[in-house]
Amino acid sequence: MLCLAIESTAHTFGVGIADGKGNILANARDTYKPKAGWGIVPMEARQHHEDVAGKVMEEALAQAGKGLKDIGIIAFSQGPGLPPCLYAGLNFSVGLSKSIKKPLIGVNHCIAHIEIGRLTTKRKDPVTLYVSGANTQVIAFVSERYRIFGETQDIGIGNALDKFGRQAKLEFPYGPKIEQHAKGGKWIGLPYVVKGMDLSFSGIVTEAGKKLSQGESMSDVCYSLQETTFAMLTEVVERALAHTGKREVLLTGGVAANSRLQGMLDTMCRERGAEFAVVPREYSGDNAAMIAWTGILASRSGAKPLAAKKAEILPRWRTDQVDVRWIRR
Ligand code: AMP
Ligand code: MG
Repeated sequence: MLCLAIESTAHTFGVGIADGKGNILANARDTYKPKAGWGIVPMEARQHHEDVAGKVMEEALAQAGKGLKDIGIIAFSQGPGLPPCLYAGLNFSVGLSKSIKKPLIGVNHCIAHIEIGRLTTKRKDPVTLYVSGANTQVIAFVSERYRIFGETQDIGIGNALDKFGRQAKLEFPYGPKIEQHAKGGKWIGLPYVVKGMDLSFSGIVTEAGKKLSQGESMSDVCYSLQETTFAMLTEVVERALAHTGKREVLLTGGVAANSRLQGMLDTMCRERGAEFAVVPREYSGDNAAMIAWTGILASRSGAKPLAAKKAEILPRWRTDQVDVRWIRR
């Protein structure tokens, strides 16, 4: 059974294809780039997604060497995300599902980031640190759901880095640029904000911007921004490990590409005797292969297809609201 899936929650429009054995046959995408100094303009991103949708699907089918006649299920990223962007994906998926007469499955985007990580790194039961533009969550499977043990109370770590990058007039994409500037930097104080198991980043970004305007070097500010926020994340992951008694950590989402964050988590895991794994680069940022694979897992475990007429977007759909029937423990 092949699942063709659509991702469109934010900047990326993707089409992926997966089979029932966990083979990824296609992972095509096209990413909207805001103009210099701007964040995502949701209506522009929606227009981008509508413009590229047909082309990206053709690309995915070509990568897989398949035609629409070979597809058994359509899945799409139903939420969470930016409503205009989600509508682009919903409309395209509903249209496709009607035209090829195949069932439509709604997938939670955050859970898909976990599932592609588990599939590609062969981790069974990790504490997952999911760090992307909009999301920052520490998650573990307990009692039939992916429970959130800690999360950001304001913005995601990726957006925090991007916000600083824009203020500092770095070039897009900001995360990798900050990583480069941080090399060789030295520590200058920044606030460290962990509240119980939750985190907060926006005050730190404001403070980092101030340091820069007070004459601290770009390298020192980028270094301190990374050291502070990544140490906060590592602290919460470590406590989640201790609390759940799990022995594996999985790093997933767009910010998983950062080697300093990987290094900090790796050190913490070694010291605790836990195993550490990072999702491969190809699947760290938003992609539709992860939606296709999660669509397979959901439909195999009895998820009800959505009726085309009633299908809706779920912009605030939380990780812990999904019954995860494909894991039995
Ligand atoms: P996603 O929303 O999952 O596609 O992730 C996008 C986010 O990942 C953006 O906020 C990027 O700045 C961030 N990102 C990508 N590469 C890196 C990196 N090497 N270091 C830090 N952040 C990164
Ligand atoms: Mg994402």
